[in-house]
Amino acid sequence: MNVILLGPPGAGKGTQAQRLEERRGLKHLSTGDMLRAAAASGSAIGREIKGIMDRGALVPDEVIVRMIADRIGEPDCAQGVLLDGFPRTVGQAEALDGILSQRGLKLDRVIQLTVDNDAVVDRIGGRFSCKACGTGYHDRYRPTAKAGICDKCGGTEFLRRSDDQPETVRARLEAYERQTAPLLPYYQARGVLREVDGMASIDDVTKQMDRLLSAA
Ligand code: AMP
Repeated sequence: MNVILLGPPGAGKGTQAQRLEERRGLKHLSTGDMLRAAAASGSAIGREIKGIMDRGALVPDEVIVRMIADRIGEPDCAQGVLLDGFPRTVGQAEALDGILSQRGLKLDRVIQLTVDNDAVVDRIGGRFSCKACGTGYHDRYRPTAKAGICDKCGGTEFLRRSDDQPETVRARLEAYERQTAPLLPYYQARGVLREVDGMASIDDVTKQMDRLLSAA
């Protein structure tokens, strides 16, 4: 089964993808995580990518499409993928159609997480993740059980994203509205789009998504 999680920054795509990956045996692919790894490498292309991300803009389609086309072919994706942060433009969606059909695969569901913009700014403002295992937390909504220690792996170092500053968040929301929101009618027309209320509790959202995927 191949699934796309769609929604603005801060909608909870990463949090839900981490949970659904474990429950459903799908490989979670986050293009944001892939790009952050490339940026951290410090290579020339990595520095270019970091510059684009820190402005809240989108990395060119060719870069992302190549990245995903290669990654989907890896053995750990054989049971299906949970795409988080990709596609983000109609061009990327068209490229994904090509990548899947070339491999004899299909897109089973696109789940749209809806949230309001004020909530997005609030959620993004407090988030951080474990440096070692990537588990996501939030200062108020999802703190670690013991202060300074990751619940999952016991790690003691945490990261805050450099593009989670309020100015950049606004640019990312604009990019979502202008470039990514047109994917909603694109997938609606294909009959694969389902909506989930991203303002519900984390557990409730997971339950709703699980139900939708079981019915797919
Ligand atoms: P995310 O972690 O999904 O919020 O992505 C963080 C940033 O990475 C975005 O603001 C973009 O700059 C870049 N990015 C991630 N995925 C894509 C994509 N599919 N296309 C273009 N840029 C992307």
